[in-house]
Amino acid sequence: MKIGIIGAGFTGLSAAYDLVKNGHEVSVFEKDSKPGGLAIGYKEPGWEWTLEKHYHHWFTNDRNILNLAKEINYKVLINRPKTSVYVDGNLYQLDSPRSVILFPRLSVFDRFRMAGVIGILRYFPFWKLLEGIKTEEFLSKTMGEKAYEKIWEPQLKNKFGDFTKDIALSWFWARIKKRTPSLVYPQGGFLAFAQTLVAKIEKAGGKLYFNTEVKEIICDKEMAEIKFQESLKTKTKNEKFDKVIVTLPSFFFIKIAPSLPEDYKRELLTLKGLGAINLVLRLKEKFLKDGTYWLSVCDKKSPIMAIVEHTNFIDNKHYNNEHIVYLGNYLPSDHPYMKITADELLKIYDPYLRKINRNYKSSIINFKLFQVPFAQPIIPVNYSKIVPPFQTPLPNVYLANIQQVYPWDRGTNYAVELGQKVARLIDE
Ligand SMILES: Cc1cc2nc3c(=O)[nH]c(=O)nc-3n(C[C@H](O)[C@H](O)[C@H](O)COP(=O)(O)OP(=O)(O)OC[C@H]3O[C@@H](n4cnc5c(N)ncnc54)[C@H](O)[C@@H]3O)c2cc1C
Repeated sequence: MKIGIIGAGFTGLSAAYDLVKNGHEVSVFEKDSKPGGLAIGYKEPGWEWTLEKHYHHWFTNDRNILNLAKEINYKVLINRPKTSVYVDGNLYQLDSPRSVILFPRLSVFDRFRMAGVIGILRYFPFWKLLEGIKTEEFLSKTMGEKAYEKIWEPQLKNKFGDFTKDIALSWFWARIKKRTPSLVYPQGGFLAFAQTLVAKIEKAGGKLYFNTEVKEIICDKEMAEIKFQESLKTKTKNEKFDKVIVTLPSFFFIKIAPSLPEDYKRELLTLKGLGAINLVLRLKEKFLKDGTYWLSVCDKKSPIMAIVEHTNFIDNKHYNNEHIVYLGNYLPSDHPYMKITADELLKIYDPYLRKINRNYKSSIINFKLFQVPFAQPIIPVNYSKIVPPFQTPLPNVYLANIQQVYPWDRGTNYAVELGQKVARLIDE
């Protein structure tokens, strides 16, 4: 079969890899100049490794992507970095049962209560029983008001903003269930890993078209036709396929498939999501001096959701001995920060950053801002009832995107699993 895939993120690449291995004629269309999608990376002068525009790591139980890395003989690094919370103006390590029991900002009773609830969720296998419950209500009732106010409410509010009240407990369960103390990182970075996968697909006969944006999908009963543009200066071209896989978020699928029925479009539009921004600082010295990799900022007034010091996880020798810090936020795609410049954003963040490290500014080498309009699906209660299936109303057109990996939260591991599943469906 002749198969067209739209998007060279990890869903598109994994589907392409499996389909090409099974003898299909595969073409992948990607509007960016490189593969990797949301996990795409870049390189500054002097760096040996690429770095993701948005912080990325794997958990040691991310089976699908780790098996894929093994299959293509790709080396990964395993490390146990430190995860902390910023509460009441101080940093506290909070990444093990012991650190929860020792956490000084809660009473001993509340610490045990919090540890107990996390422990139960971690070993509870029946996520479907949890999807009708709201995270906010569950956490404040079971962990107690104090733990909720100090730890969880600020994190949920900073991440989900106005959607906080809607988030289902099955989302929170998935986050707790999958977390592992040790983390994994592909040698050379996620871009290098994606490029190796591209080379394997090409070697098996697949074709990848970068800088090529798909403008429209046109369908009849027999074939699906893709209209694409190789660069802004060229005219659009058309190509026919037996099957087409779309890996874009649903909102973008609607834009390129005008012939979708109105009912289906309306259903897809009920699926909400947030964009993401990351201001990446290159520093001469460490920002988080205690060695913390991931710092969740538990302060509802903070303009930053998380501070992630990549080089407290991966050796900075790969980045010309620089220290790399992400200042991350999830925001609606129409938020003013989605259009702001890096300088303007650093001015907003600066007073807060000074509270954590007074002298960081003198150590700045450079900084860059990355913004994406869709990065985090919103998982409201009973999401399983609204997850779209692979098959779309358009004959021979399949949808496989970030909004379908439920009950898991988005991640490259689930993108790989999704790509494998849609490839199997088409193969069968
Ligand atoms: C801030 C942040 C932190 C994250 N942290 C982690 C993490 O630690 N670990 C982890 O595993 N995952 C993490 N993720 C999630 C992970 O990046 C995604 O789940 C995964 O990359 C999704 O892959 P995908 O292929 O489904 O979609 P995408 O990566 O979105 O791929 C879609 C592709 O389609 C292309 N495209 C769009 N429109 C068109 C068009 N019209 N024509 C052609 N091409 C088009 C896009 O350029 C893109 O390359 C994070 C994401 C963000 C934003």
